Amino acid sequence: MRVYLSVDMEGLAGISHSAPTGRGDEGYPAAVELMVGEANAAIEGAHAGGATEVVVNDSHGGMFNLSPMGLDRRAVVVQGQKAWSMVQGAGPDARLIGDGRFGVALFVGYHVRAGHPDGVIAHTYSYAPTLSTLNGRPVGETGINAAVLGAWGVPVGLVAGDDRLAEETEGWLPWAERVVVKRAVGWRAAASVHPAVARELVREGAERAVRRAATGELRPLEVETPVRIEIEYRNGGEADYAALVPLAERYGDRGVRIVAQDAPTAYRAFLAGIRLASLASA
Ligand SMILES: [Zn+2]
Repeated sequence: MRVYLSVDMEGLAGISHSAPTGRGDEGYPAAVELMVGEANAAIEGAHAGGATEVVVNDSHGGMFNLSPMGLDRRAVVVQGQKAWSMVQGAGPDARLIGDGRFGVALFVGYHVRAGHPDGVIAHTYSYAPTLSTLNGRPVGETGINAAVLGAWGVPVGLVAGDDRLAEETEGWLPWAERVVVKRAVGWRAAASVHPAVARELVREGAERAVRRAATGELRPLEVETPVRIEIEYRNGGEADYAALVPLAERYGDRGVRIVAQDAPTAYRAFLAGIRLASLASA
């Protein structure tokens, strides 16, 4: 069983404020340590559950956060400026890594969607979207990434983050292990378990997820087609830039609607729009 592990930072135990997740902040090295710790816990759990190979996608910010020497030596890490971002290497459109498909994907350090009322560091890909929906339902990185992976036949077996993310995950991926490493207190506030406790929870969850994937009880997320993604941006300028992408059109005051024949195509337009929007407010 080949395992795909996407690791973000805002949802880790011990992270409550976005500041230390930014390169250059004095708290950043400690945040990287937390990221490596939960990544290693997932790698260890995956191997205990029967993984033959774990590919780690560094999925935060500039996407070269994880310190390679700190990582479990059994894993391969994908880092750097990846066109396909948080799902790079997991499917044929995103340069499938290795010689076969992944049996399961694990999301660690994840966080709730943009616009969530009280989840910790709620956002979707950047801070530009104030709300995003997939086929009319509010969605965050968990649901969007899972839909792309689902189109490539890869089920998501574990999502780790705060308690609000566990609720969000239940709505999209009821079969996935939901690991809660902190309780949301507010947008920049959390009540977190100790990182050592979080690692134990992630390790156990990853082991269960890989075992359950082997039995075939996890489902690749299937979304209805055509796939409609709507993103509300902070201002009309961001929306104007995002609407330059083929398949995208403006709606309402600050919205951009994408309608595509499948999830990976919708994702391409979504990701391109987010990136263009960042130029509008640069
Ligand atoms: Zn992040």
